[in-house]
Amino acid sequence: MRLRNIPGSRDKIKSSPYVITETAMGEVWPIRGKWADEFGNTHPIRIEIGMGKGAFIIEQAKQNPDINYVGIEKFSSVLIRAIEKQEAENLPNLKFLRMEAEYIEDVFAPGEVDRIYLNFSDPWPKEKHAKRRLTSHQFLDRYDKILKEDGVVEFKTDNPDLFSFSLKEAAVAGWMILDATCDLHNSYLSEGNIMTEYEAKFSALGQKINKYIIRRNIE
Ligand code: SAM
Repeated sequence: MRLRNIPGSRDKIKSSPYVITETAMGEVWPIRGKWADEFGNTHPIRIEIGMGKGAFIIEQAKQNPDINYVGIEKFSSVLIRAIEKQEAENLPNLKFLRMEAEYIEDVFAPGEVDRIYLNFSDPWPKEKHAKRRLTSHQFLDRYDKILKEDGVVEFKTDNPDLFSFSLKEAAVAGWMILDATCDLHNSYLSEGNIMTEYEAKFSALGQKINKYIIRRNIE
């Protein structure tokens, strides 16, 4: 992701009706446990962590008006592009958060989230940074706290090393692999697939896309 400082982006984010107001890092957000009030309904809530410029989640929200979506992105300069798209669409079922995903439990109460999308997450190639990968067992433990009982995580990546790490971490954390493919676009999982910005770029270069869907083991 090319990051350019965009003058005024912080102020624009602060005043946007589509962005939930930020809370200091490490503090519980007032919205926690009150997402249904924010959306004005009790529809399921699906989140994308590291949504980038938002193409995927905006299309999801357009196609599924009875599902609520929350796009999460840590960089203002990227989030601003998603806000601009949402300004044109004005979808009532889509909100954004500017935050570091490590603090996700401060924003969603136990069982408040129905599904988590991770698309083309940063690979953090150095072993000493493995716990920063959004599919590490440390992150899966965080997702465990906010997902409803049968909630799932869907992950797509072009990176085979990150994919094999992620499959292993799911096992370490005691999650069940419901489905997985190393060639999404030539598998039955491609039905209804919505491409992300990175996915479009990598598949145009002929790279195969990996995907898994996991759920924690329910006794
Ligand atoms: N999901 C988009 C796609 O597939 O086109 C963007 C992929 S880009 C490689 C990864 C994005 O995730 C970046 O915009 C980055 O800022 C964001 N990101 C990475 N780690 C994050 C974290 N811990 N919390 C929030 N956002 C994160």
